Amino acid sequence: MRRLAASLLDLVFPPQCHLCKVSLSHGKAICDTCLTDLPRIDESYCMRCSEPFEGEFSENPICPNCHKLTFTFLYAKAALKNSELTRKLIIDYKYGKQRHLAKVLATCCAEVIMNDSRFNSLPDPILIPVPLHWRRKLMRGFNQAELLTNEISKLTGIPSSPMIQRTRYTTTQTRLSRKQRMQNLKDAFTIKPNSRPIRTAILIDDVFTTGSTSEACASTLKKECAKLENIVVVTALRG
Ligand SMILES: [Zn+2]
Ligand SMILES: [Zn+2]
Repeated sequence: MRRLAASLLDLVFPPQCHLCKVSLSHGKAICDTCLTDLPRIDESYCMRCSEPFEGEFSENPICPNCHKLTFTFLYAKAALKNSELTRKLIIDYKYGKQRHLAKVLATCCAEVIMNDSRFNSLPDPILIPVPLHWRRKLMRGFNQAELLTNEISKLTGIPSSPMIQRTRYTTTQTRLSRKQRMQNLKDAFTIKPNSRPIRTAILIDDVFTTGSTSEACASTLKKECAKLENIVVVTALRG
């Protein structure tokens, strides 16, 4: 029992940096050095999907993939590049159920919302987590996007509303192509009844890969929210 209690306590207050194992003060998940060193997407990247480019590019670049696609949302911005370290953070958070990592990922997402000038002009923004179907939430124990959203809300002061619900249970998306994902997600989402009208939706998710989940949520918002003016996406990682 004592060992169980100690390991539970360690889960809540990890005494070491999750990444480099340096000793930490009470309540932090990773050390300041590791937080600073996480690879941000902050220089050259696609203005639509946030795919990072190597080297210098023209102003407002669009990647070849986005040239072929249309999205309902204006743009998606991911905080972190896909690397061994950032993938480990996401996997440990989402599948390892290490909920305290939400604060680390939220810190990086909040930087995006506060530092990327495109977010400054959005009127009355509301943070909206990408929902999980209740069955998956039950299996996982939590919705990683919702926890992330709550932490971003605390850091930015932007209110949040879990107004989208997943009404259809979908099989896992990881091995599907973009087209198959879109088909898989067709009619999977609705807006909760009696949701307040909103002007700007900032959709929050842990990872942006093909954009099909964000797109399905965005088109549901657009269809069902009459007064909505802008939809943008923020994720922790560009998959
Ligand atoms: Zn560290
Ligand atoms: Zn792109």
